[in-house]
Amino acid sequence: MLKDSILLKVENLVTSFSTENGRIRAVDDISFELREKQILGIVGESGCGKSVTALSILRLLPKPSGIIESGKIFFKHTDILRLPPEKMHSIRGNRISMIFQEPMTALNPVHTIGKQLEEIFHLHFPNMPKKQIRDESVELLQKVGIPDPESRMNEYPHQISGGMRQRVLIAIALAAKPDILIADEPTTALDVTIQSQILDLMIQLQKETGMAIIFITHALGVIAEICDDVVVMYAGKVAETAPVKQLFKEPKHPYTKGLLASIPRLESPRKKKLSIIKGMVPSLYELPQGCRFQNRCPDAMEICSTRPPSLKRVADDHFVSCYLY
Ligand code: SF4
Repeated sequence: MLKDSILLKVENLVTSFSTENGRIRAVDDISFELREKQILGIVGESGCGKSVTALSILRLLPKPSGIIESGKIFFKHTDILRLPPEKMHSIRGNRISMIFQEPMTALNPVHTIGKQLEEIFHLHFPNMPKKQIRDESVELLQKVGIPDPESRMNEYPHQISGGMRQRVLIAIALAAKPDILIADEPTTALDVTIQSQILDLMIQLQKETGMAIIFITHALGVIAEICDDVVVMYAGKVAETAPVKQLFKEPKHPYTKGLLASIPRLESPRKKKLSIIKGMVPSLYELPQGCRFQNRCPDAMEICSTRPPSLKRVADDHFVSCYLY
């Protein structure tokens, strides 16, 4: 039974892909929870399984190569992995929406912004009168900070900037008033000033709508700005999970410590070199026995190569998967 405040619970999820060189597990036995109104960050290097986790939640894995091998994903009290496709379709977009990294490819270049937004209202609220759909679309564009929304409705995606396109995508994702918004690297393709405007917008919209957000990024600095809690992923596994403040104050996993040491800080002396995590993420085809971080870990011990460490509680809501604890 889920606690009432838990909106989404991922339990022992295993997702794999068949490739020319055999089957690989992109996500291997991960668990985490998302509470109502929470902004949860999932952070890690590219290929760590964070986007595959999002696609697994929405059951949008590329077919036929991607499959969920095992695990459960509860949305409220329903295991959505067991829902028939039509029921899942109504949850997707309706209760759980997603925005992607590259706004140009996510929008249809041959339709106006207004048409694309109105279509979502038609789909989710089939009985809504046309005039109301138009008014709500304009209002939504205004809400996400698009100036002169009436005339923007008639423009095509290529006529507006990358930052505006990402705002349009956020408006589209919000049209169905979802309970959960999954944002996969939504600011990566944007320049730094626009990035911070979009982050501010997401925080503001979360406060106004009360929705929960899963924010996926490779940048721990972005997590600090926007998230309440964070899941650090490495090579398909959860390395550490904690409230953001706790993670920044007392990181436990050597990988998290390495990520934190690589963030530029204002108070650091100007000539101080940023630290980098030496070595490479292991290939999913050749994962080592034991801890997946062992080839890069400054604290590796003999036990680390025997079997994978399991996630242990080190403080309230702070879990780490490492033999040091
Ligand atoms: Fe390093 Fe061992 Fe901890 Fe892995 S389990 S992070 S190798 S100390």
